[in-house]
Amino acid sequence: MNPNQVLGEENPFEAMHARFDLAAKKLGLDPGLYEILRQPDRELTVSIPILMDDGSISVFAGHRVQHSTARGPAKGGIRYDLNVTLDEVRALAAWMTWKCAVVNVPFGGGKGGVVCDPSKLSPGELERITRRYTANIADILGPDRDVPAPDMGTNGQVMAWIMDTYSMHARAACTSVVTGKPVGLGGSLGRIEATGRGLQICAREALEQLKMKPEQCTAAVQGAGNVGQVTATYLSRMGCKIVAISDITGAVVNEDGLQIDEICAHLQKFRTLDGYDAGDRISNADLLELPVDILVPAATENVITSRNAANIKAKLLVEGANGPVTAKADKMLDELGVFVVPDILANAGGVSVSYFEWVQDRVGMFWTEEEVQERLETMMVKAFGDVVDMARRFEVSNRIAAYMLGVDRVATITRMRGVYA
Ligand code: NAD
Repeated sequence: MNPNQVLGEENPFEAMHARFDLAAKKLGLDPGLYEILRQPDRELTVSIPILMDDGSISVFAGHRVQHSTARGPAKGGIRYDLNVTLDEVRALAAWMTWKCAVVNVPFGGGKGGVVCDPSKLSPGELERITRRYTANIADILGPDRDVPAPDMGTNGQVMAWIMDTYSMHARAACTSVVTGKPVGLGGSLGRIEATGRGLQICAREALEQLKMKPEQCTAAVQGAGNVGQVTATYLSRMGCKIVAISDITGAVVNEDGLQIDEICAHLQKFRTLDGYDAGDRISNADLLELPVDILVPAATENVITSRNAANIKAKLLVEGANGPVTAKADKMLDELGVFVVPDILANAGGVSVSYFEWVQDRVGMFWTEEEVQERLETMMVKAFGDVVDMARRFEVSNRIAAYMLGVDRVATITRMRGVYA
């Protein structure tokens, strides 16, 4: 098979539907609720004309999808990437709905994306894209409507521009319209670390189930952005030996263990792993097949498919990225006996602390980092336990159990609210 050929299984919205359908069937979901929850509530596609630094005009495409607002305002990140498609944003929005329900925060699910390559844009161009995109979707945003956050290619600065643009239109300082803001502008302590910290908590809980000791485990992390770096740091603090980490340029591997602090410092300085030489270089695909105990895909979707799932050697897969495994590959990993902590549970630390940030902004009182960590710990441990219990009770995989938990909670609220006509 041509390794560059796009597989049918790689449409993320279809991948979401495949798991949703299994969960709905197992739950015996009412056919009407099934129809409601399978599709997004609202989709908005906007055109974003920008004056470039050289005086020319470029037009970018942007999307914002609200999959569900049944449990509260839509919540979900904004991605800046050349591969953004409407189907990808739809899938990411639905995953946010189930994720918020799995950790039981009072949010629905949404997601946004702009088709652009942020690495090729100047700070001024990035700011103009962000402000025009925000202005074009402002009608559906708001602290009680839809609250964005960072995702691939966006960061605290982008969130600050979103907050400012929305506030200018609202004629009021409105910090709670977006989360992942810098601390000092209504951001929460512990938000930057939250997703990686949640992944480490899940890894710790899963290792306990598997009766494995962190100090005796090796780990490989795909992706060295926010999620990858923080996860690698916390796993290594827990005693695991990180033998490989990658970014888009490929992976660095050293079976004696990598110095994660040194790698983070290199990334801080050069923004790429290229040039880091305390290890051998291998491809991103090879990293996934390393003989490690713990594998953390923390870059992008569809990295484990029917093409390579049979070659996965890790005992524990903790999904930092959203949708890193296709539905076809799920079955193959189950057959191999891999313990999977699915994305909608594993990476939910980010949205949990986003919820804390939203609460702090609305109340106008801020918590210490210890308070944030303690609440995150409680929330993640509870969600992990709920998913594992569901998996045991219904004899399903952890992934389908997480979907069942999320879908059931959203369906219950939707039924309670009734159908407005
Ligand atoms: P980021 O932009 O900070 O980092 C992405 C990393 O992945 C970079 O190292 C980049 O070089 C690498 N990468 C990008 N495309 C790649 C490819 N095709 N192959 C290999 N590596 C590639 O993004 P992030 O915030 O760390 O998010 C990573 C993943 O985690 C995404 O799937 C995102 O949706 C998910 N996620 C992020 C958060 C969050 O709080 N940031 C929360 C939940 C889920």
